Amino acid sequence: MAGICSVCGLPEELCMCEEIAREQQQITIRSDKRRYGKIVTVVTGINTSDINVEELARTLKTKCAAGGTIKGGNIELQGDHIKKVQKVLIEMGFKVDLKGDVA
Ligand SMILES: [Zn+2]
Repeated sequence: MAGICSVCGLPEELCMCEEIAREQQQITIRSDKRRYGKIVTVVTGINTSDINVEELARTLKTKCAAGGTIKGGNIELQGDHIKKVQKVLIEMGFKVDLKGDVA
């Protein structure tokens, strides 16, 4: 299958749609304290029609070596991984804001 992008009609290796979509995300990372003092890192603001959230969650879980879930289009990682998540997302071309207590 020759991959042709259904959005711009260019071959996939020339297509910039995913990169553009990543730049246009307004992603926020924060940490939440849950019951029993558990910390989770929450990634919000992902436009799930532009971005494959499952794939992104899988990447973040691998990079942070942490468990995680997708809840309502947000990615939740177990533990405090704000710095790591920020670094990984920026490397992938996402625009990222930080909210909440950043130590
Ligand atoms: Zn495209």
